Amino acid sequence: MSEALLTKASARETKQPTMRAAVVHDFAEPLAIDEVPRPVPGPDDVVVRIEASGLCHTDIHAAHGDWPVKPHPPFTPGHEAVGIVERAGSRVSAVAVGDRVAIPWLGYACGHCDHCVAGWETLCEAQRNTGYSIDGGFAEYVKADGRFVVKVPAGIDPAEAAPLTCAGVTTYKAVKVSGARPSDTVAVFGIGGLGHLALQYARIAGARVVAVDLVDEKLALARELGAEATVNAADEDPVRVLGGLGGVDVAIATAVSPRAFEQAYGALKRGGTLVFVGLPADNYIQLPIFETVLNGITVVGSIVGTRLDLREVFELHAAGMTRVVYEERALAEVNEAIADVEAGRVPARLVLRP
Ligand code: NAD
Ligand code: ZN
Ligand code: ZN
Repeated sequence: MSEALLTKASARETKQPTMRAAVVHDFAEPLAIDEVPRPVPGPDDVVVRIEASGLCHTDIHAAHGDWPVKPHPPFTPGHEAVGIVERAGSRVSAVAVGDRVAIPWLGYACGHCDHCVAGWETLCEAQRNTGYSIDGGFAEYVKADGRFVVKVPAGIDPAEAAPLTCAGVTTYKAVKVSGARPSDTVAVFGIGGLGHLALQYARIAGARVVAVDLVDEKLALARELGAEATVNAADEDPVRVLGGLGGVDVAIATAVSPRAFEQAYGALKRGGTLVFVGLPADNYIQLPIFETVLNGITVVGSIVGTRLDLREVFELHAAGMTRVVYEERALAEVNEAIADVEAGRVPARLVLRP
């Protein structure tokens, strides 16, 4: 046999299985559906066969390179993946082959820095992020650290678990850090994937909720989910309307627009708290020092949530306390899905099926 034939034969024997993945090659180009090697688990990893993958606006920021810290193409976005563990490395003990798990944004944290030890693993400086610094869930399979996936309780549909894995845990945490209490009024700015769940967690905390968006369909959804009042910021000034209601105790800004953050600030009562959650490409807003001091305003940033927060989010959903509003799309239609999210043409969340 010639040398060339021999090489071809041995390549066939050792051929690694492949999978389809949506890959960002260039921030200015659409994602490509590529045939890539299927991941192989290291000792601490699991490989998960993905059933459903939510499309978070963060994936769009990642694909466009919108943020000050950029991912490095080529990479696969997606950090709301849910699926079944198909392979597990020798040191994996928290989950087993056959378990349904969620693979969130926090793909790894060191476990021993001050933040990790204090229960703030989301602030770990050694963290790695799914779909950003490590390949994510817009694929048929994903590799993840077995210590950072979270089990999905029986009875939760994978397509509903997916949006909970980022939109859910992020806004659950945001409501926690806001300190919202019964009798408070909470304004949610942006009723998209995150906002429609923020609204529900604020209600679970006992608060009255008002919703602000630019799209009438999103505001209709907010009313369906229990918002007492809604404001279309394209037609009316939310600062004036919410000020007329006496102002709000808490404002949660999930909108992808700095203008909405300034309006959320302007809608606060004295002593109120503004939670920054959205991460618009345009990174700056202007806030007055004098009014912040004299009115005793708190402004706090909130980044996703811990594994414990995600367990609590799944528990609430399993108990029937939350509703996930979504529509399914095929993974191959990821670029159309992104365009629809950007145009505000979608129900709260899109979920990709590989
Ligand atoms: P989305 O596109 O589903 O929702 C955004 C909503 O904001 C839409 O309904 C849109 O109509 C509305 N909106 C846009 N401009 C507005 C304005 N001026 N006033 C009021 N509403 C306005 O996006 P999403 O997936 O919910 O993500 C929202 C943002 O949160 C993104 O920037 C994303 O990167 C960020 N995010 C942050 C965290 C975190 O940990 N802090 C986690 C996930 C996502
Ligand atoms: Zn750490
Ligand atoms: Zn997200």
